[in-house]
Amino acid sequence: MNTISTKCLIIGSGPAGYTAGIYASRANLNPVMIEGYQPGGQLITTTDVENFPGYPEGVKGPKMMDDFRAQAERFGLTIHSGEVTKVDFTNRPFKVEVNDGAFEVEAETVIIATGASARYLGLDDEQKYLGMGVSACATCDGFFFRNKTVAVVGGGDTACEEATYLAGLAEKVFMIVRKDYLRASKAMQQRVFDNPKIVVLFNTNTVGLFGDPVLEGAHVVTKVGENEDKYDIAIDGFFLAIGHSPNTSVFKNAIELDDQGYIVTKAGTCRTSVDGVFAAGDVADPVYQQAIVAAGNGCRAALDAERFLLMNS
Ligand code: NDP
Repeated sequence: MNTISTKCLIIGSGPAGYTAGIYASRANLNPVMIEGYQPGGQLITTTDVENFPGYPEGVKGPKMMDDFRAQAERFGLTIHSGEVTKVDFTNRPFKVEVNDGAFEVEAETVIIATGASARYLGLDDEQKYLGMGVSACATCDGFFFRNKTVAVVGGGDTACEEATYLAGLAEKVFMIVRKDYLRASKAMQQRVFDNPKIVVLFNTNTVGLFGDPVLEGAHVVTKVGENEDKYDIAIDGFFLAIGHSPNTSVFKNAIELDDQGYIVTKAGTCRTSVDGVFAAGDVADPVYQQAIVAAGNGCRAALDAERFLLMNS
C-alpha cells in the first residue's frame, strides 16, 4: 500500500480543516489534508453567508470555501481527495487508511475536522423517495422544483434559509414546524414571515409520504392541545432541515465520543482522549455550529498540534 508520511494530517475540508491547514502550513508542519466526500464541507451547499466577518456584502458559501482553500494551498497545504475508512490511533505515528486501502497516511499528529451531516426524520418513505422528491439540500436540488410546491421540515436557521431560497424558485413553500414557534434567529424568521409564498404549519409533524412513482404529497398531523388534525398536503419536494449528526463513525472505537457521537475535547483545548489527536469544527461542537467558530477552532487545533510536536519530538 502506498504510504504518505506527515507531521500533521488534517481530515476534512470545511472552515475548520482549511484554517488548520493555513496555520499548520505556516508553522512548517507540511500538513496533508484528506478532503472527504464533500470537498469544502457543508458551506458548499449554502447560499448566502452574511455573518462571516470580512465579507460586508455577504458571500456565497462555495466562493468562501474556494477562498479558504486557495489561502491554505498558498502556504503549502497538500490536499488529497478521498475518504478516511480506517484509523489506528494506538501508537504514533498514527495510521489512517483512505478509500479502503487505496493509500495510507502515517501522521505524527491528526486534526479531525470531518463536520456533520444532515439528519432525516427516520420515516421509511424518506428513503423510498430519496432523489425522487426527498432531499436534504435545497441549494443542490431546489432547481428541480421551479414553479412547484415544496415543504421544508424544521424551524431553525437552516430551515428558514432553505424555505426562503426555495420560495425564489417554487410556487409555494410549506414549512413543517413541530413546535408553535421557530427556533431560528429573529432576522431569519422575519424573512420567512415576510415572504407571501411561505406558509408555516406550526405544531405539525410528518407521518408519511405518498406518490407513484415520484413524490406527490405528505401525510401530516397538526396537534394543538387535545385537538389533532390529520390531513395531506400536495407537494412535489420534501426538504429536510432538522439539524445534523457528527461524522464520527470511523472514529467510534478510536477516541472518546459523547452520547450523540460528537468528539469529546478537553476543556479549553482541541485535545481528544488520544494524545496527538485533535478535533475542530462541528464534529466536536454540538452547541455553536457556526463557520466562524469552526474556523477559530481549526486555528486552535493547529496551534495545539504544533505545541504537541514541540514537546514530543
Ligand atoms: P437547529 O438544531 O438549530 O434546528 C433544527 C430544527 O429542526 C429545529 O426547529 C427542531 O425543532 C427541528 N427538528 C429537529 N428534529 C426534528 C424532528 N425529528 N422532527 C421535526 N423537526 C425536528 O439546526 P439548524 O441546522 O437549523 O442550525 C444549526 C446551527 O447552524 C444553528 O446554530 C444555526 O443558528 C446555524 N445556522 C446559521 C445560519 C446562518 O446564520 N446563515 C444558517 C444555517 C444554520 P425544535 O425547535 O422543536 O427542536
